[in-house]
Amino acid sequence: MKITAVKSHVLAYDLPEELGYSQLYYAKRTAHLVEVETDEGVTGWGECFGPGNIALANKGIVEKVIQPMILGDDPLDRDVIWHKVYNMTRDHGQKGMPIQSLSGVDIALWDIAGKVAGLPVHKLIGGAHRREVRAYGYGMMLKRESLEDHIARFADEAAAIKDMGFTAAKMKVGLGPKNDVKLCQAVRRGVGDDFPFMVDANHCYTTSDAFYVGRALEELEPYWFEEPVAPEDLDGYRELRAGLSINISGGEAEFGRWGWRQLLENRGLDIAQPEVCGLGGITEYLRVLTLCHAHFTPVINHVWGSAVSVAANLQLLAAIPAMPGGLHPWQPYLEFDTTDNKFRDELLKEPLDIQGQVKSTGGMVQVPTGAGLGIEPDRDYIERFTVSE
Ligand SMILES: [Mg+2]
Repeated sequence: MKITAVKSHVLAYDLPEELGYSQLYYAKRTAHLVEVETDEGVTGWGECFGPGNIALANKGIVEKVIQPMILGDDPLDRDVIWHKVYNMTRDHGQKGMPIQSLSGVDIALWDIAGKVAGLPVHKLIGGAHRREVRAYGYGMMLKRESLEDHIARFADEAAAIKDMGFTAAKMKVGLGPKNDVKLCQAVRRGVGDDFPFMVDANHCYTTSDAFYVGRALEELEPYWFEEPVAPEDLDGYRELRAGLSINISGGEAEFGRWGWRQLLENRGLDIAQPEVCGLGGITEYLRVLTLCHAHFTPVINHVWGSAVSVAANLQLLAAIPAMPGGLHPWQPYLEFDTTDNKFRDELLKEPLDIQGQVKSTGGMVQVPTGAGLGIEPDRDYIERFTVSE
């Protein structure tokens, strides 16, 4: 079997309303899908992390840099291909966009491997430790509105996410430490005392500001405090984890086993959040998962993107062993963005219908059991939303 083409599809549409997090506002939803074709008619799908113009630049890397390196290779040799591409781009890559681009290609190769074997990806990895995964809903994005409006809306949205059936709710912060504490208090009020919520700062704080917010959070008992400081600030992470009684999470902006080794050895994370569509694909995710467990750090995948990303993550969430195990072992969550996303809800011929599953099951989502990622994207739909610049 030989690889005959590696194609990128960048999709975009205008969101019904602008959304924001601590770093920027955005008005378009984008997705970057990768399709690997073979001489035997089997096609694999993957996805690269990276929105907007990043996706268009990554398309160039996928098609102009990676494709020529691997045309004619056997798609089942995915570890060989991973190292070939990594080694040939090392002087220009190691982290960031080249690795995001490799991620989408690698995921597509796993989809092909599953289709050839007639098995879902979680079976190729070693089987399902769970056949369904609890889901948490994130929303509560920043908007260009007053603090008072943010506070009222966050309380309402938090309650709405709980009513949708999700098992926890995640909010954004980023209006400044004092205002952010008020937002967190509103979300605690919105979900009530016994419902888990998480706080995502998208690395907007200095260490001292993160301590200010973190100390207030100790009272509110969120399940975790995500990306409080810059991903490069390993000292800040370590000091926060040692100094606060709440879980510190992060890792969505880290790449590959070498970056993750440093992050884990630094002892700054209570919960690791690897992004499979960014860190190097499924091949590298499995090595990062092993590293996390070697450090007894539990893993809850970062999930962002289209239905392809959601399906890939469900395959991986099924394959995470219990760590440390027991009658009632600690369980991961599926991260689910509750804001408008057609590419997650409408891309597939048979949609995953996460919201419907969550509503009818009280927060649980089934792991797809079809071959490969277990999904089939609709080509007409892809064509309709494809953009070239
Ligand atoms: Mg995050």
